[in-house]
Amino acid sequence: MSISVDAYVSGNRQRFLDELNAFLRIPSISTLPENRGDIDRAAAFVAASLRGAGLENVEIISTSKHPLVYADWLHAPGKPTVLCYGHYDVQPVDPVEEWRSPPFEPTLRDGNLYARGAADDKGQLLTHIKAVEALRAVRGAPPLNLKFLIEGEEEVGGESVARFVAENAGKLRADVALVSDTSMYADGMPSLCIGLRGLVYMEVEAFGAAKDLHSGNYGGAAPNAVFALVELLSKAKNRRGVIQIPGIYDDVEPPSPAEKESWARLPFHEKEFLKREVGAKALTGEPGYTVLERIWARPTFEVHGIAGGFTGAGAKTVIPSRATAKVSIRLVAKQDPDKVITAFRDFVRKKTPKGIRTEVRVLSASPAVLVNPGHPATDAAAKAFEAVFGKPTAFIRSGGSVPIVGDFARHLGIPAVMMGFGLPDDGLHGPNEKFRLENFYQGIRAVARFFEEYGQ
Ligand SMILES: [Zn+2]
Repeated sequence: MSISVDAYVSGNRQRFLDELNAFLRIPSISTLPENRGDIDRAAAFVAASLRGAGLENVEIISTSKHPLVYADWLHAPGKPTVLCYGHYDVQPVDPVEEWRSPPFEPTLRDGNLYARGAADDKGQLLTHIKAVEALRAVRGAPPLNLKFLIEGEEEVGGESVARFVAENAGKLRADVALVSDTSMYADGMPSLCIGLRGLVYMEVEAFGAAKDLHSGNYGGAAPNAVFALVELLSKAKNRRGVIQIPGIYDDVEPPSPAEKESWARLPFHEKEFLKREVGAKALTGEPGYTVLERIWARPTFEVHGIAGGFTGAGAKTVIPSRATAKVSIRLVAKQDPDKVITAFRDFVRKKTPKGIRTEVRVLSASPAVLVNPGHPATDAAAKAFEAVFGKPTAFIRSGGSVPIVGDFARHLGIPAVMMGFGLPDDGLHGPNEKFRLENFYQGIRAVARFFEEYGQ
């Protein structure tokens, strides 16, 4: 059966590329008000494409911001249901002068298709739709039930889709979600992401004197809000990189020995990572853990910025009365965001220096997500990936978060198969974003194969 999907994809290469190009020519930048019309055109393109692939009940759903597109095909009784997710919005293109070809004029160079959104996420989302089209063409009908939910706010926070998922659990009921918005670990290496870290993002504000004071008249006696914040934050980690917030490591679940072994086999080179990606003198972090463990399976505490006092040109001898820091804690499996927030609040309260008052504000909180590698859908996806790419599938994690995966877990109670066809050097969000054209076609084959395997 997959031979004929294969043949169908090969026989339609040019048309599939033409369709992807048409999609990529729509500058659906979600953050810019002047592109609002393009957002609607992109949503309409997705709806038409879903209809063309034979999906039913295609709806463009308006929200308080950008529209969602829903569709389904539910005629495989007794078979599982897959909820396919993607996003049609893209990042802005600046610095536009660094693009070698115009960002919204898709251009093929060396087997790569260059355009904003090529990999993130238009090319990848189209693999799902074209897989359905191919399966219908070669076997008359998809081998399982399908729902599609495509959004247009992924690059600006995805609030509308989160609300929609929370309020429409019945409509979206499925056995598993399929998300193709990630990358393969390395070129030619099929990889399934089975773990994402969670995130608690907070603001700490310190208040000292009633107003800014002169350091000549008051320095030595008056509390300094900026220094107090630095003093407080410096206590959150020791010099070895171990977080000092009491209780922070209590619920951390370590990766299984099998998972650790498989990470050790990944083509990860610490020196290359340091030189090419980080570009600093040395790496930091907890002793006793490999870099991948530190990035994928350990919590973090980071300071993203501190604002307060005088930072203009020249000198001004001020004792700042207030200062603010943006901080975050990345969470791993089994850590409860609320418990971590409470632990951080306690820590701040106890360590706030004399003469200072502090306030902690939580801007967002989401738990880590971990998918059981033995789940039938994960297993089917791994087999499909391997069959199409001819190499065993690696199970990896990501240190970041994909909020929609958390929403699916929380509101629908389903895991996600994160099957990405991008490559690490695709340049997402930057100039010269690209998608390997062959990965587009292989992605269609792999998704179709996944539907077949999982529908068996
Ligand atoms: Zn994306």
